[in-house]
Amino acid sequence: MAAQTEAVTLLPWLAPYWRQLVAYIAHDRIPQALLLIGAAGIGKDRLSTAFAQRLLCKQPADFACGSCPSCILFTAGTHPDYFVIEPAGQGKRITVDSVRSLISSLSLKPHYARHRIVIFPSAHQMNIAAANSLLKTLEEPDEDTVILMLTDTPSALPATILSRCQRLNVATPPPEVAGKWLREQRVSENLETLLALGHGAPLAALALAKTDVVEQRNRAYAAWRSVFRQLEDPVAIAATWAQLGCEQILDWMLTWAVDMVRLASAADHAALYNPDLRDSLRSLARQLDRAQLFSWLDLLYQSKKLLSGQANRQLVIENLLIRWSGMASARTQQRY
Ligand SMILES: [Zn+2]
Repeated sequence: MAAQTEAVTLLPWLAPYWRQLVAYIAHDRIPQALLLIGAAGIGKDRLSTAFAQRLLCKQPADFACGSCPSCILFTAGTHPDYFVIEPAGQGKRITVDSVRSLISSLSLKPHYARHRIVIFPSAHQMNIAAANSLLKTLEEPDEDTVILMLTDTPSALPATILSRCQRLNVATPPPEVAGKWLREQRVSENLETLLALGHGAPLAALALAKTDVVEQRNRAYAAWRSVFRQLEDPVAIAATWAQLGCEQILDWMLTWAVDMVRLASAADHAALYNPDLRDSLRSLARQLDRAQLFSWLDLLYQSKKLLSGQANRQLVIENLLIRWSGMASARTQQRY
């Protein structure tokens, strides 16, 4: 896949990891089970796909050639020695059946290449039975099989899987590197905010640039401020937000609260999740005392737990906003 291979050379922050992977090949020490750990949206999938193609290529240089019969099959998505194991759909898990069917395919010799490559693009989505059925393969792999597992949440993988994989930690690039690359992709408006909303991951920020997420977040922030100043009804705002997605709004509120704590306790140059809201968040933080800031943060974390369960989502947000709306006046009453 020429385009994909080229993409790796173009993602500058992946270069050291690419060199590491190619060094495995050069020294004939390719790990049979490799776990790539790193945030969502930094290009782990591109890195692993390019590595798979490089291993299967019949005439590779630094990268796969893109034109040999193996590369052509790879590009067409029909290479018989390349397996991608994913959940059957959004919100689903990787099942034991798909792992068993993989294992039975691996019992045959490679068709075409020296290696067979298996990629789990989101390994943490394996259910326990699937993970257990994979253990023996990880423990006694065929020499020609290379298993690449990708995850942004290694803590969600069973210890039995973690202990059987060699790890490669892929770091989130520094903001200057990510920002430079995003400008090269013609993202200039709201760049800092997009990068913050994408948790520093350039590909995530690029995807967000194609949405109206910054406008949505700004509208939500303005409403949240108005609720604090008791200019808006918390119940009405909660109803609007329920349509936007309670998890998303709660995550934003969490970053605003963490930023307020940072601004209240650290110097002005504290690194923030929302650098564009610095002045506004500072002025809000000044209207609350430390105890209030921390109890607000606690409340948000408790609500996040509630949202992951069976709770009525709109009611959770409503309760939060009612508390938020009373905070400024609570402070005033204390003072006088
Ligand atoms: Zn090739």
